[in-house]
Amino acid sequence: MPDFLDTEHTEVLRTAERLADELAALAGRVAEGDIGAAVRESSKAAGVFGMTQPVAFGGTGAGALALAIVRDTLASRNVGHLPGVFGPSPGVLAEGGEPLRSQFLLPYLAGDMRSGFGFTEPAEAARHTWARRDGDDLVVNGAKSYVTGGADADFINALVEVDGIGPAMVLIETDRAGVTLGQRFGTLDGSHHAAFIFSDVRVPATHVIGEAGGGLRRAMRQINATRMAIAADCIGLCRFAIDLVEQTLVERARRHGLQEESARVGTDLERVTLGGMRIAAYAARSALYRTARLLDASENAVNEVMAAKSLATETLSRICDGAVQLVGGTALVDGHPLADILRRVHALQLAEGPTEVLAANVARGRLDLGLGRM
Ligand SMILES: Cc1cc2nc3c(=O)[nH]c(=O)nc-3n(C[C@H](O)[C@H](O)[C@H](O)COP(=O)(O)OP(=O)(O)OC[C@H]3O[C@@H](n4cnc5c(N)ncnc54)[C@H](O)[C@@H]3O)c2cc1C
Repeated sequence: MPDFLDTEHTEVLRTAERLADELAALAGRVAEGDIGAAVRESSKAAGVFGMTQPVAFGGTGAGALALAIVRDTLASRNVGHLPGVFGPSPGVLAEGGEPLRSQFLLPYLAGDMRSGFGFTEPAEAARHTWARRDGDDLVVNGAKSYVTGGADADFINALVEVDGIGPAMVLIETDRAGVTLGQRFGTLDGSHHAAFIFSDVRVPATHVIGEAGGGLRRAMRQINATRMAIAADCIGLCRFAIDLVEQTLVERARRHGLQEESARVGTDLERVTLGGMRIAAYAARSALYRTARLLDASENAVNEVMAAKSLATETLSRICDGAVQLVGGTALVDGHPLADILRRVHALQLAEGPTEVLAANVARGRLDLGLGRM
């Protein structure tokens, strides 16, 4: 349990534990295809659904620590990834004025529209997706290569280099003339993505979200929040995998104990492996909670968020590998939770910035900008 929680956050923890129990029971009872509605209902009743939505949009606008506690706790029961736990978050669109608010943000928050986030570009792109101003319009050209949920999205919030202004987040409807869905593909973790090509796509200049030129900063804020979400999910999953290993070792000892009076839990090698897992999880979990507290104190924590995300994903990857090895072949059987986590973790090591890119950026933060703590 995270140390030094005040009364408010202790209450958040208790709520998350109750919800985790409820969702774990649901996951065993409800068919996979129908689970979203049941999860949403439980999450709304617990007051968790609105935590990722600002108060201005009907949510509770939870802070970083509260969100980390909930995600860590739900993932520790392997239920944090279920659809419907959190309501749609406005992300960069929260900063859009009219007409974006009425036409897109409110229908999106009500669940009547879907969106995607267009940041990554094809490696072979000659230049970043760009736009030129033409009267009251922007004319967009370029491509985005990895838009999660993009094939079902009504619009994409895309990072676009606007000539003479700089990077801007621009809302582009997917049914606009000139938008082509180039490819739809799934990844190992079970998620779906789309690649888009933009050829002279005309959007009103009012589709720029917030002031033009601040797009990269705005995109980074959304990416930061997602990195924290990934980190907290991974930390919870580390605990889940370690719990599974410990249960396995205890059951093995119990089976041996039927024959041997002196049976103890775990061989020396198993104990060293388990101890290493717990040490790694302790370090990564401490980093997550420290970073969440920095964010809640309104500190610049971009570098710490990168550190927490890479530490959490890499730690989960190693722990999951070790857990599969200790549990044995049954852990690789389709449907086993460790097999499922193993499939998900590699995507998390790449999404929102691969580990090596984050490390290079942490060094840049220190050497070029004088930022970053240890
Ligand atoms: C499940 C999933 C969901 C995603 N969803 C979205 C989404 O919704 N929207 C979106 O825009 N993108 C999304 N992405 C894309 C994701 O952000 C990119 O895959 C990621 O940023 C890596 O980019 P890349 O795949 O082009 O690999 P590259 O940038 O080519 O990197 C490949 C490898 O090269 C090495 N490398 C690259 N640059 C450096 C460097 N500077 N220093 C050291 N080593 C380096 C690293 O080892 C890295 O892992 C998603 C990806 C995944 C896996």
